[in-house]
Amino acid sequence: MTLSDKISIGLSVDAHKFKPGGPLIIGGVEFDFDQSMEGHSDGDVLLHAVMDAVLSAADLPDLGTLFPETDENAGRSSVDMAREVTRQLKVQGIRILSIDSVVLAQAPKISPFRSQLRESLAACFDISVSRVNVKGKTFDHMGPIGNAEGIEARAVALVERAGA
Ligand SMILES: [Zn+2]
Repeated sequence: MTLSDKISIGLSVDAHKFKPGGPLIIGGVEFDFDQSMEGHSDGDVLLHAVMDAVLSAADLPDLGTLFPETDENAGRSSVDMAREVTRQLKVQGIRILSIDSVVLAQAPKISPFRSQLRESLAACFDISVSRVNVKGKTFDHMGPIGNAEGIEARAVALVERAGA
């Protein structure tokens, strides 16, 4: 297997609406904020985007297929889901090489939490902090994200398949 046969990239995006009341969880990190995300699980928009990017790169079923909207998955921790995704990748002999992501939010401010978010993602996906990045962006008050109706996250992941 040549290097180009072993390396794949995956891209994904996710968005959730705000609902009143905390805690707000982004990338497994709890933010002191008076709103949280609507969603069947804990609505962790960043972890959802990263998991789907990783699964796409690994050519595995997507998040909605792995964790359907059943009672069992209601309110489920996305950190637990990310650890399960990471476990399934290892079983398939697939290693995550790199993750990059952007959180689009008018509020709360993401940038002061960048290092905490990187550490959290690195722990979830069992890779080194230097291989994970998270940036925060606003939409300059334009559209639903800019009007603080919700948060969007985008992610890319690079994975390597085992093989000679
Ligand atoms: Zn989601």
